[in-house]
Amino acid sequence: MARRRIGVIGDPVEHSLSPVFQQPAFDDAGIPATYERWHISADQLADWIAGLRRPDAIGANVTLPHKEAVARLMDELTETAGRVGAVNTVINRHGRLIGDNTDVHGFRRSLIEALPDVRSRRVLLLGAGGAARAVLVALAELEVASIAVANRSVERAERLIDELDVPRATAVGIGTADLAPRIRDYSVIVNATSVGWNTEESVLERSLFERLPVDALVVDLTYRPTGLLRSAVGLGLATLDGLPMLVYQGARSFELWTGRVAPVDLMMRAATEARGVS
Ligand code: NAP
Repeated sequence: MARRRIGVIGDPVEHSLSPVFQQPAFDDAGIPATYERWHISADQLADWIAGLRRPDAIGANVTLPHKEAVARLMDELTETAGRVGAVNTVINRHGRLIGDNTDVHGFRRSLIEALPDVRSRRVLLLGAGGAARAVLVALAELEVASIAVANRSVERAERLIDELDVPRATAVGIGTADLAPRIRDYSVIVNATSVGWNTEESVLERSLFERLPVDALVVDLTYRPTGLLRSAVGLGLATLDGLPMLVYQGARSFELWTGRVAPVDLMMRAATEARGVS
């Protein structure tokens, strides 16, 4: 059987770990497919997506900055992708393109695994950009006790809450003066800002960490030991980075493309090893 094509679309995409753990999953399942990195600019996007309708294409993952644009190029969106307004997984069903958002599943599964009692927790979500959209939908689905969305632009946080229709969530400022009086109330902090991805900078000042409850969990969507995670570890708080979310979103994508159960342990091992050397 001829090898089929699949890949991750982004700009840039060289840093993506997806091929590192998707290729072993296809190999393990005996599916002849090559999972590639596709560096695609905004003006190439529509043509590239159209090419995914061909019989040799299985589909794609989508990463920054194309998730919202790809949602507009699909024949059909799943309910989750429609709600989030962004697609990270394209499935080619006999020439019809279905868009899903498995980031929601990935975040939900990684959070429940780290914190089985998450429903009783009050959550502070930092950021109101693309990643925060999937996190907010997942938190709403998990029915956590309360959600506050903190952003430099509070209006953007308010817009996010309205658009995703999570009326229980509230919007707050992200500065120390805004958070200091209330930080004690939260026992889950999720960093969905881009702060810390490239620098040692932490989106929260250390003085704020020191006021968190002792059973707090600090989550960062990046998959590096960021300044935020290091501060949390230094204070003896539990932490969760973005690697399990990444692998679980990818495992769900694999299941949508192939109809097979994903070899999650194998995928997790491959991603963890690759992160160690990157
Ligand atoms: P984005 O759409 O560009 O949003 C960036 C967010 O960061 C906005 O809320 C922005 O606030 C905030 N921000 C930027 N600089 C800031 C600063 N100096 N102080 C405070 N807030 C600041 O980016 P994104 O797509 O949401 O990605 C966010 C992070 O999530 C990235 O590091 C990305 O790699 C990660 N991510 C991980 C996964 C995973 O599977 N683990 C999946 C998706 C994304 P304003 O609105 O005020 O500008």
